[in-house]
Amino acid sequence: MRLEPNFKNMIHDENFSLESDIVCDCQNDTFKIIHTGIQKNGLFGIVTLKKQNKQLAIEATCTSCGKKITIYNSTLDGLKPKQIPLEEYKPLILKNNEDTFKINVKYNFEPQNYKTDRFEMMQLYIKEKNGKKEICVFEVE
Ligand SMILES: [Zn+2]
Repeated sequence: MRLEPNFKNMIHDENFSLESDIVCDCQNDTFKIIHTGIQKNGLFGIVTLKKQNKQLAIEATCTSCGKKITIYNSTLDGLKPKQIPLEEYKPLILKNNEDTFKINVKYNFEPQNYKTDRFEMMQLYIKEKNGKKEICVFEVE
């Protein structure tokens, strides 16, 4: 998988799913996030990212060394990547102006595609650097 070098504390089970925290090459685990989709602020602090014009890319930038990590890109990832031009990137910022996050990803795969970028479903959870709340920000099937 493209993201595997940045996995830390990976858990996988017999149902061809896996879950992992994201860590930078420099071992820092706090990131700023930019994306090309639409951010929706829901109830209970739940934020979701939706595709905009059938595309979405999510990039994490390490707050320590500045390295950019592509978390998701609809032109590369999933069972049916779509070659659609990406929209402009904008920062993910929560209502309390928090803009640095820890990131956790979860994937489901068909057996023949296990641990490839051809996943069936991906969920992205972010955790505020100074908070405990996990917020699902993105789910794609
Ligand atoms: Zn780094």
